[in-house]
Amino acid sequence: MEGHCLCGAITVKVNDSDLFSGHRRGHLCHCRNCRRVAGGVFGTNLTIEAEKVEITGEDNLTKFMDRDTTSGTPMARCFCKHCGTPIQSVTPVMKGKVVLKLGIFEKVPIPEWEAFAVRRQSWEKPLEGCIQYELLGGPGKKLLEG
Ligand SMILES: [Zn+2]
Ligand SMILES: [Zn+2]
Repeated sequence: MEGHCLCGAITVKVNDSDLFSGHRRGHLCHCRNCRRVAGGVFGTNLTIEAEKVEITGEDNLTKFMDRDTTSGTPMARCFCKHCGTPIQSVTPVMKGKVVLKLGIFEKVPIPEWEAFAVRRQSWEKPLEGCIQYELLGGPGKKLLEG
């Protein structure tokens, strides 16, 4: 899977043979900050091992330290310093992993789960087959009731 920012200064290549092999990968996030970064009503993210991600033009990346996080641990939100395209988020909470922002890729895997489902717009439907987490997503986190 490969994509680039709006201006082309940054290219991201994901080396993972299991992206389109039938398993769901990645998640939608309805949290306020993902929405702001996405410029839309949810973010499309993929948490993945940093070693599988190859970034060309990394000098063009800049970051905003997001301190308004649920865990309280600051998260670096990285974007292209020329065109502002969101590329990835990095947090010490997830060692060795990055959260890729999937908007730059032509084709992305079917998401596995949705996070912050309580903040979904009233007119948005849950994505069929997606695990629905009330707030933070992932194993052991609280599912959305009802
Ligand atoms: Zn750019
Ligand atoms: Zn989020």
